[in-house]
Amino acid sequence: MSGRPLAIRFVSSATRAHQLPDSDAEVAFVGRSNVGKSSLINALANQKQLARVSNTPGRTQLINVFSHDGGGTMVDLPGYGYAKVPGRIRKDWSEMIEGYLLEREPLVMVFVLVDGEIGPTPLDVQMLDWLRENEVPHTVVATKIDKVRSSHRQNRRRELAAGCRLEPGDIVWVSAAKGVNIDQLRGLVVGHLTR
Ligand code: GDP
Repeated sequence: MSGRPLAIRFVSSATRAHQLPDSDAEVAFVGRSNVGKSSLINALANQKQLARVSNTPGRTQLINVFSHDGGGTMVDLPGYGYAKVPGRIRKDWSEMIEGYLLEREPLVMVFVLVDGEIGPTPLDVQMLDWLRENEVPHTVVATKIDKVRSSHRQNRRRELAAGCRLEPGDIVWVSAAKGVNIDQLRGLVVGHLTR
């Protein structure tokens, strides 16, 4: 099962959790802008434009929902920390994301994307602390690991995990560009959606 592309289709966009469709189980992806979230969702589904299609202008600041053929839904949350966004809009974003994470009943797992090359930014750490405080189940996914030279990988894994206050083995290390561990992450997603 995990080797097959994730069979997902874009369903709708919303700004608030209560506007979302019913679901038996839902997983969400969150991360700062440019962390590689669209590329990862596209890689999981083996579709080139899935996340981008839904991220056409005007939809980028929305909660985008995908349905999974095997049951459940998947959500692409708006990227946080985009530097050029004025403070007021940033506040709206965080309210939307926090509201979703606290209120969405079918939510079973949040995949928090951290750039594997750069490591956790202060905003990523803030997000992880907030998820812990609020006891929201989450898994850290380190993206773009192809950008880390293989001789540096072990150190990078240790540093990144320490920055997230986790062990390297707690983190899923992926590369959407090179297809590394995409099967593994797909298996985790399907497991959460169909349990
Ligand atoms: P998003 O803003 O989080 O949706 O990020 P995107 O998926 O649009 O990716 C941001 C940039 O990172 C783009 O230039 C991608 O080509 C690049 N990128 C995404 N995933 C990978 C990866 O696995 N490896 C490498 N080398 N680049 C990646």
